[in-house]
Amino acid sequence: MIPGYNEEENIIPSFEKIRSVFASELPAYDYELIFVDDGSTDNSENILEKLGRENQNFKYLIFSRNFGKEAATTAGLKVAGGDAVLMIDADLQHPIELIPEFVKKWEAGAEVVIGVRNKSKSDSWVKKIGSNVFYRIMTIISDTKITPRATDFRLLDKKVVLSFRRFTEHGRMTRGLIDWLGFKREYINFDANSRLHGRASYNKIKLAKLAFSSFITYSLFPLKLVGYLGSIITLLAGAFGFFTILGKYVFHNRFFSSFTGSAQLAILIVFLVGMMMAGLGLVSLYIANIKIEVANRPNYINRKSNF
Ligand code: UDP
Ligand code: MG
Repeated sequence: MIPGYNEEENIIPSFEKIRSVFASELPAYDYELIFVDDGSTDNSENILEKLGRENQNFKYLIFSRNFGKEAATTAGLKVAGGDAVLMIDADLQHPIELIPEFVKKWEAGAEVVIGVRNKSKSDSWVKKIGSNVFYRIMTIISDTKITPRATDFRLLDKKVVLSFRRFTEHGRMTRGLIDWLGFKREYINFDANSRLHGRASYNKIKLAKLAFSSFITYSLFPLKLVGYLGSIITLLAGAFGFFTILGKYVFHNRFFSSFTGSAQLAILIVFLVGMMMAGLGLVSLYIANIKIEVANRPNYINRKSNF
């Protein structure tokens, strides 16, 4: 399954390469290639229709406009019918020649095989630092385990695909949802190629937005942050205020006696602001509950049963 947005020059090379890999290394397998066109504005549509006419195992979906890669992968997983589904980018950055390795791990019992990108020298330092910070924060705040540099280059067993279809939430990141599902996973390291044709449609701003929305969709921590901060501020300001009053009016301590009225007022204000933030935090706990209910994720995912 391939999501693609303005990939006119890459569609045929991808298909050819996949076909030759299956023919030479996986001759025993039936496969179909599902291309999800995410509202391309180039000539993709004609190419897809032509490939569809000429090849029985070439299927396509064409979106009415650009909905984003996450929507495209969701659509692909919805229609894919095989015993396993492999997701791969259209730009040949994910090495197609590794597909037999994915299949081998799957045959050996893995239910999710995840391509992990090796560190690359060609990444700009902004991207390197950005992704480092992202994974650091994500590991701290997220409830599910995150593997750094794990990509969308993945093979999913049918069981996993069926479970994936149960998600109803809208703001989604396919990778994150697959991670949440669990199942037996295996990893394959690979060196990403450079794009065959065209330019990456994920620029830095789009990536930053995706990172930010991952923080808030995959973790409730940011929501609770203000509450934690408020509690800490209240506690510190409260303690400090208490010692100030005690020091100034009871023990006549030199240090605390030097505090003017406005200094005491400042402490009081910080204390009250902290209380307000703690109150906001309390409200956000309720919002967190609403978010969990609205996302309506399955309560559990079975991996096996003999019912
Ligand atoms: N893609 C998509 N919809 C979009 C943007 C990208 O389907 O709105 C596809 C794109 O065609 C490619 C994959 O998602 O197959 C990865 O995108 P890209 O190469 O732009 O980003 P990268 O992750 O390689 O930086
Ligand atoms: Mg790419």
